[in-house]
Amino acid sequence: MADRYFTNEIPDYIPETAATKTTTVLSESSSKHTTITNLLSVPYNTLRQTLKTSALDLKDRVVKETWGSGGKRLQDYTLYTGALGAAYLLFKAYQVTNNHNDLSLCSQIVKACDSASTDSGRVTFICGRAGVCALGAVTAKHVGDERLLDHYLSQFKEIKLSSDLPFELLYGKAGYLWACSFLNKHIGEEIISANHRRAVVSDVIKAGRRLAHKGRCPLMYEWHGKRYWGAAHGLAGIMHVLMEMELKPDEVEDVKGTLRYMINNRFPSGNYPSSEGSESDRLVHWCHGAPGVALTLVKAAEVFGGEEFLQAAMDAAEVVWNRGLLKRVGICHGISGNTYVFLSLYRLTGNVKYLHRAKAFACFLHDRAQKLISEGKMHGGDRPYSLFEGVGGMAYLFLDMCEPSGARFPAYEL
Ligand SMILES: [Zn+2]
Repeated sequence: MADRYFTNEIPDYIPETAATKTTTVLSESSSKHTTITNLLSVPYNTLRQTLKTSALDLKDRVVKETWGSGGKRLQDYTLYTGALGAAYLLFKAYQVTNNHNDLSLCSQIVKACDSASTDSGRVTFICGRAGVCALGAVTAKHVGDERLLDHYLSQFKEIKLSSDLPFELLYGKAGYLWACSFLNKHIGEEIISANHRRAVVSDVIKAGRRLAHKGRCPLMYEWHGKRYWGAAHGLAGIMHVLMEMELKPDEVEDVKGTLRYMINNRFPSGNYPSSEGSESDRLVHWCHGAPGVALTLVKAAEVFGGEEFLQAAMDAAEVVWNRGLLKRVGICHGISGNTYVFLSLYRLTGNVKYLHRAKAFACFLHDRAQKLISEGKMHGGDRPYSLFEGVGGMAYLFLDMCEPSGARFPAYEL
């Protein structure tokens, strides 16, 4: 089991040194002697600058490797492993630095994704056409191009949900609903009408109740024959999106009941099974396991208040601290994604312990990831420059570390 992650030997709290000592520490950081402890001890403003510089360099590399000079037809347009991920990273960089070149390049890449996804049957934000149209519309709004904004919105509204569509986040109805929320947040409240969203929400609730069928859990879903629990394909992701929606009181109770069922049936270690009935306590990823569930529990604590979900989220974060320093770099099943558990809890509680833990994981990545990947001791991802599996996600995290209280897991936390 231990070979999936590095033993976390980082001290839980490292006080910052006085600003006068930082010059020494930083000049050491350019040599190879930097330790994570050194990085953790510099004042946050200095660390923020170090991570930002690294993020912007990485962003340029991601764009070069995935987009090049553009012009060719895209093999993979998705946000998960393809070109839209590079566009999303550019949009984030634009938000942090206000560099309009990044916005303009983002817009060009989304246009190529638009052409490449026209006939795609995929409907979600992360793996489908809704992501292209939604990010396209938001980018067009920032560029100030009304005609392009109308184009993407009308394309979004043309997306059809087939009756056999699954319900999970990466390929199903939850992933489509998330795209609706993204548009409403960034363009305007009723861009995607409440009636339209309601029809899809009712469908999701009805299907969940049908499969649960008087089971101990009020809502249940299947994807490829398995009843997944995690964020990517299962309950955590679907509940997370449902909590973004206007729910009726009985629907709220079913969402709460589903989360309680998961909390009560987690592993003795505190980790969460990847699917119903699984006894394999192995994965500590956003996609499967405690990290994805933790983000959903943070959301539940934000939406419903009270102690129970907050406590469960903090319990899940302990698992992530102890077993989440994965031998992978990405957002979906790597250290970058797991870091967001601490950022989320920091946003919710304001407890600096969580900021320190986020810093610890980010500093580990900054200090070691490239070297460990080149030595073959860490996996750089099947798509090494992608947002969800590769260093694109690490760059995104470093940009979020510039303003940690506003950090949001990309394409998941609104
Ligand atoms: Zn994954």
